[in-house]
Amino acid sequence: MKKDHILIVGAGLCGSLLALRLGQRGYSVTLVEKRPDLRLHPLDAGRSINLALSERGLKALNHVGLNDKVRALCIPMSGRMIHQNQTAPFFSPYSGRPDTAINSISRPGLNALLLNEVEALPNITLKFNLSCLSVALENGSATFIDNQQQEITLTGDILIGTDGAGSKVRQSMFAAPGLRFSFSQQWLSHGYKELEIPAGPNGSYLMNPEALHIWPRGKDMLIALPNLNGSFTVTLFMSYADQPYGFDHLTQPEAIADYFKTQYPDTLALMPDLVAQYQKNPTGGLGTIRCSPWHCHGKTLIMGDAAHAIVPFYGQGMNASFEDVLVFDQVLDQDHTNWPERFAAFEQARKLNTDAIADLALDNFHEMKEHTADPLFQQKRQLEVAFETELPQHYASKYSLVTFHADIPYHQAMQLGRAQDKAILSLLEEQQLPADLPLEERYQRVEKRTQQLLAQKPTLKHTSL
Ligand SMILES: Cc1cc2nc3c(=O)[nH]c(=O)nc-3n(C[C@H](O)[C@H](O)[C@H](O)COP(=O)(O)OP(=O)(O)OC[C@H]3O[C@@H](n4cnc5c(N)ncnc54)[C@H](O)[C@@H]3O)c2cc1C
Repeated sequence: MKKDHILIVGAGLCGSLLALRLGQRGYSVTLVEKRPDLRLHPLDAGRSINLALSERGLKALNHVGLNDKVRALCIPMSGRMIHQNQTAPFFSPYSGRPDTAINSISRPGLNALLLNEVEALPNITLKFNLSCLSVALENGSATFIDNQQQEITLTGDILIGTDGAGSKVRQSMFAAPGLRFSFSQQWLSHGYKELEIPAGPNGSYLMNPEALHIWPRGKDMLIALPNLNGSFTVTLFMSYADQPYGFDHLTQPEAIADYFKTQYPDTLALMPDLVAQYQKNPTGGLGTIRCSPWHCHGKTLIMGDAAHAIVPFYGQGMNASFEDVLVFDQVLDQDHTNWPERFAAFEQARKLNTDAIADLALDNFHEMKEHTADPLFQQKRQLEVAFETELPQHYASKYSLVTFHADIPYHQAMQLGRAQDKAILSLLEEQQLPADLPLEERYQRVEKRTQQLLAQKPTLKHTSL
């Protein structure tokens, strides 16, 4: 039987993986991208050059047979290196289980790998430099404009929008009469700016490359992830409006140098051209997008950031977008007979979970910049690491549930993880977890309190590991 032709708008991370999987399933796919081919034209500087890839994303990439090729691009980071002002940095592992790490990976490197794989399939057509203007939602067609300002229309049996947070496909759904499209965009008070710590002599790393480096400063935060060439991509998260240290106000060279001297003194020697980089690189906004429905007329669907953009503080936006592709693939294995049913099943399976990771990412914004260096938070982390080391069958922290347990949906990870957090923090405050109590007994207390908290919410189920 002839397979449908699928038009995908947006050849970023989600669209490329989706095209690859649908191509592998035998569909005829046209994948259209507004930018030039990034394998020939490097991306603009300063646009999240590297990302943290973890189990959910790896599971989806493994599913299309790319495990080895992706691993070759990864730098494992097994914990956070916390740089406090005035004192020596300390390492806080992500988990007490051995061999658990998140991976720093180049965005263009990963996207290029996916595009190479896409291009190798004869049933996929790739088109660059075509920017989608609007979508005729009822017939799976979209109008694009090319570099010569010529408009062209492409049509599929279905159309899937993976065109990112500013999605034109979603905008067409928003404007569609009668769809009752719900949409919210919640901007964060903070934006981000990328900087670079260059490689040392002979491509050496100037800091430990096996950690995600964080400089938590209460209001603002700096993080750094390693690159394969010995450099680190540094991201400054700072409020726009705060005075004098906000992106809207911090523009003069002396003030920029002064800010880093006061807040991040150990980075000055690592970034000799810091002020020039700060002034040259763009500042990006951070927001959460929620919307529904994700599909209409059984012809058009959105996924990835187009459907659920989140703030980057759990390192899960790309991972969630890759998980979308995996879940869509599972839906295609179910015995639905038409696209409207498949689209509805996909949204039903995903929406609750992408809403959960959106909430968790916002929580982590506060945790990373305010709490990572806080003594109570540190006490909790040490206990969690001890539970994960000694009782790995029984305990996984919220971070581990989200990051390392791809088999546990985000919303279950959120419910269990939040209850555990609350249980440990309240027991620590009540001094119910003294260090001289055997670890097993401390775990029992935490587990009991966690169950009590979960029982207060009858809709919550206990998630078993
Ligand atoms: C600072 C920052 C740090 C991040 N860190 C992490 C991290 O560590 N881990 C993680 O998992 N996630 C992270 N993310 C999130 C991650 O970048 C996104 O979730 C991910 O890129 C989503 O993939 P996507 O394909 O849906 O969208 P995108 O990657 O945005 O891709 C959309 C594609 O569509 C194209 N496009 C857009 N408009 C059109 C149009 N009109 N016509 C045709 N094509 C179009 C774009 O050019 C692009 O190629 C981070 C995000 C930011 C901003």
